[in-house]
Amino acid sequence: MKKQDKLVRGILGDGRARLFVLRTTDLVNEAQRRHDTYPVATAALGRTLTASLVLGAMLKGEESVTVQVKGDGILQGIVATADSRGHARGYVGNPHIHLPLNANGKLAVGEAVGQGMLFVIRDLGLRENYQGSVPLQTGEIAEDFAYYFAVSEQTPSVVSLGVLVNPDHSVQAAGGLVIQLLPGAETDDEFIAALEHTAAKMPAISGVFADDMTPEELAEEYLGSLGLKFISEGPVSYKCDCSQERFMKGLIALGEEELEDLIAQGETVETECRFCAERYYYPVHELEDVLRELRQSKERD
Ligand SMILES: [Zn+2]
Repeated sequence: MKKQDKLVRGILGDGRARLFVLRTTDLVNEAQRRHDTYPVATAALGRTLTASLVLGAMLKGEESVTVQVKGDGILQGIVATADSRGHARGYVGNPHIHLPLNANGKLAVGEAVGQGMLFVIRDLGLRENYQGSVPLQTGEIAEDFAYYFAVSEQTPSVVSLGVLVNPDHSVQAAGGLVIQLLPGAETDDEFIAALEHTAAKMPAISGVFADDMTPEELAEEYLGSLGLKFISEGPVSYKCDCSQERFMKGLIALGEEELEDLIAQGETVETECRFCAERYYYPVHELEDVLRELRQSKERD
């Protein structure tokens, strides 16, 4: 049976730590296909999307989270958003980049990202959104998130993210694993030593999913000795909430004069969603309808 993307949650050591393991192969493949990212960009975006899903899994209901990686490298930044129901979407500033492999023979994500900041913005449905930020450590994304959790959220964490790209640019495997110490466990030296020992022995996560293991099998195999208990699981997928109507609202928001200018140009207006690369078209007669409605609603006011 074909393996499916999903996020599995669990606890370790009688609740000393919590665990998120996720397979995101199909999701990152969809991101690659929509944005036509080249391998380095695919790895950077895929790792960030995978991390954003873990942040999303920490939210409730209608809440969402946006991750911004603002680096000075040729990738020109990464943006990813995720919600609590396993949906994520994102893009990079420059999807068409080539770099030689780094000194470890890996895709040079850190070099592509460059130096800068990692921002995490949680939309909790309040006026004031919660925002945390840390300087990028390596630009390799996993290290940057581990640092973010430790410094900005005071939660020591193991973060492993991986994307394996095929020669034809499609994604062979992608996934992630996050282990977070829960309050009170910071002083449990024995458990922490066991955790560090286990984490050091784990293979690259993309290789594990390339071997077609499920997240549960991965957790059992590598964390089974740490008192692993599964709590829940759910699907994850690439999903954007853009629509013809939503972009039309954006056009209306431009105001009467801008709309008149667009109509005067006499051409169909084309917009592309940054997050999913979906294109929407607005012919002149639709723009005229919108302008008419806009004027009528003004007269009513
Ligand atoms: Zn979209």
